[in-house]
Amino acid sequence: MQDRYSRPIRYLRLSLTGACAMRCTYCRPFGWHSQDRDDELTVGEIQALVEHLATRHGVRKVRLTGGEPTNRDDLVRIVQAIAKIDQVEDLAMTTNALNLEHRAKALASAGLRRVNISLDSLDPVRFAAITGVDGLSRVMSGIQSARRAGMAPIRLNTVVVRGQNEDEIGELVTFAAGEGCAIRFIELMPMGPLAAQWKQRFVSQEEISSRLRSLVKTWTRESRGGESALSYRAELVDGRIAKIGFISAMSCPFCSQCDRIRIGSRGELYPCLLDHPAGSVLPALRPVLSRTELDRRLGEALNSKPLEHPAVGVGVMTAIGG
Ligand code: SAM
Repeated sequence: MQDRYSRPIRYLRLSLTGACAMRCTYCRPFGWHSQDRDDELTVGEIQALVEHLATRHGVRKVRLTGGEPTNRDDLVRIVQAIAKIDQVEDLAMTTNALNLEHRAKALASAGLRRVNISLDSLDPVRFAAITGVDGLSRVMSGIQSARRAGMAPIRLNTVVVRGQNEDEIGELVTFAAGEGCAIRFIELMPMGPLAAQWKQRFVSQEEISSRLRSLVKTWTRESRGGESALSYRAELVDGRIAKIGFISAMSCPFCSQCDRIRIGSRGELYPCLLDHPAGSVLPALRPVLSRTELDRRLGEALNSKPLEHPAVGVGVMTAIGG
């Protein structure tokens, strides 16, 4: 499957629900509520959709996201259904980890190999102020449980926001290195509640790495081509090794290599994270699967995938899935 600029599409990011307990300052607009959860794609619909994309269209990577994917009671069944599709080589999930402590083992047994965990602060008061949930200790337990369940690599994702957590970058690296986790710093994107203040709140990859100057002795580039994150093996001044990545959609856009299609929890098609949705796969899945209709809808969406992402996002990250 290719878009009109011949970019091959191999990576599906699937939002399982718009629901999330967190209200992160940069993510969920005040007063925004997810749609009726009765409309979410069912396990059977998800299985049919992913199977079609993997067997007929070459999708090889699937990331479960949200909202918060662990809010789905049937998440283990969803993971099982996708994990048994041979063509899916990489199945991962992005989570806030609030519910991971008690779910990691079952998810790993179901076939979930790895998780990315959002973590913007190591200070419990600041964590609560950013996310709206007094839950840092639950996230810490979630990280431990994911490790005990054998998930690897575990990556911590930090959105860096000026005036919010840019002073914690070094501490977060030290923490991640101590936990044996990779850490990735995500540049703030101009969408959601901070879009209007983006210029003042944005912290570039360049500034993030310069803030690490006194902590990192040497940087060795690790990422292969075609990945959204630039990843490095960093030797810290205390001799420890940290895995540090940057997702710099603003200062270093990776649109020319974008191999993603995003599908929302009710089947909405998002060819680009910052652009408008382009139809929905739901009518092709419900009440019964129509492969022809599914192909027509996927083709239409990919035809509208822009060459570069718009300057400002029009959607809500927690609905699209990040
Ligand atoms: N609930 C899960 C979580 O907390 O990771 C998954 C959904 S969350 C919307 C997915 C990712 O989007 C997170 O890593 C989050 O930090 C990121 N995100 C949300 N709004 C963002 C923004 N304006 N700029 C950059 N990243 C953002």
